[in-house]
Amino acid sequence: MAEKIKMTNPIVEMDGDEMTRVIWKMIKDILILPFVNLKTEYYDLGLENRNTTGDQVTVDSANAAKKFGVAVKCATITPNAQRMDEYNLKEMWKSPNGTIRAILDGTVFRAPIIVNGINPLVPTWTKPITIARHAYGDVYKNTEMLVDEGARAELLVTNKNGNVTKQLIHEFKGTAGIVQGQHNTQKSIESFARSCFNFSVDTKQDLWFATKDTISKKYDHRFKDIFAQIYETEYKGKFGALGIEYFYTLIDDAVARVMRSAGGYIWACKNYDGDVMSDMVATAFGSLGMMTSVLVSPEGVYEFEAAHGTVTRHYYKYLNGEKTSTNSVATIFAWTGALKKRAELDGLPELSDFAEKLEQATIFTIENGVMTGDLYAISTLADKKKVGTEEFIKEIGKNLNI
Ligand code: NAP
Ligand code: MG
Repeated sequence: MAEKIKMTNPIVEMDGDEMTRVIWKMIKDILILPFVNLKTEYYDLGLENRNTTGDQVTVDSANAAKKFGVAVKCATITPNAQRMDEYNLKEMWKSPNGTIRAILDGTVFRAPIIVNGINPLVPTWTKPITIARHAYGDVYKNTEMLVDEGARAELLVTNKNGNVTKQLIHEFKGTAGIVQGQHNTQKSIESFARSCFNFSVDTKQDLWFATKDTISKKYDHRFKDIFAQIYETEYKGKFGALGIEYFYTLIDDAVARVMRSAGGYIWACKNYDGDVMSDMVATAFGSLGMMTSVLVSPEGVYEFEAAHGTVTRHYYKYLNGEKTSTNSVATIFAWTGALKKRAELDGLPELSDFAEKLEQATIFTIENGVMTGDLYAISTLADKKKVGTEEFIKEIGKNLNI
């Protein structure tokens, strides 16, 4: 066998929970370690270790990602009441993704992996649509009230000198009602914009952005203006050189255009739009097991993961000794994404070629008719075979002719 590929700097490895933790080890053992002298800084984000360390391990892993620039994360359990009992937890630890995102101040980009035989529900979508969701503020950090009939609601802002500005929201004459206060910050919107422009440049894809600025002439308009200004002053030249475009339109026009597009662009969404549209786009592209996710910070830190969770239902079957057929594609692509980014930053073409080959072997395996149950159920291939979790990974290994 040829000599293993060497690395210079490490990838920050964030291990996780349940079925994805099982898959994680198989991917490393069967598809990566035989070919690469893998260098990682390992953090065990499995729920047990998060509980033991008082969740310090999550914070440490995010800081390591900041230091080394590239991370790969396994899906992790976000505890709820039932998990408190199951794992005998000291506290209901917060979502690791939320903690990491808060430290890196990043934007999440979600993109489907497209293969022949798994046809998007929208027939024109031949290329991936990547959704970038602004993960701060708006309705997710709102203040809201039920108000009685006869109430008068006002928006009141006190500036740092104590000066007050007041505006009428509504007088509730003859009916009770509801009111809501929302905010966002210049800093967060700027970070979001820069992450989106950087990712566009990185992946050489157009960037679309949309709000309802015609109706929301200050709030949504501010998003539009901040994007436009950052584009003009920092990115116009780079976009021009790459032959890609920044395109702004109204949100309803964007939705209509997305439906008749071929895909192949990044769609930047305000928080609520991204929440809703990412579920729609993911469903239309097929399986959750084929959806990748990458968190990009405005300073250019990249954290790769699968968009799905720990696939609990399959894990319980696995623990019972039953045969599982869990799709590992999104987790494999999280690894290849991290390897490629590391290769790019460190100037390691061999490592980049390896990651590319692993992606091709994965796609080839499915297009050759060997797939997990989720894909088997929707594939239009005439000749297809459903295989188990490990068999699928081993089959990719066979197709990885190096
Ligand atoms: P999930 O793990 O994404 O799984 C939901 C269902 O989707 C599965 O039961 C399975 O359907 C299907 N599915 C998802 N990924 C699949 C794959 N790779 N291969 C085949 N089928 C797949 O979501 P969940 O069950 O709601 O959440 C489980 C745990 O994951 C929770 O503790 C949650 O906190 C955590 N979670 C973590 C992340 C993250 O770390 N990024 C994200 C989401 C959820 P069938 O059962 O019908 O086969
Ligand atoms: Mg959602």
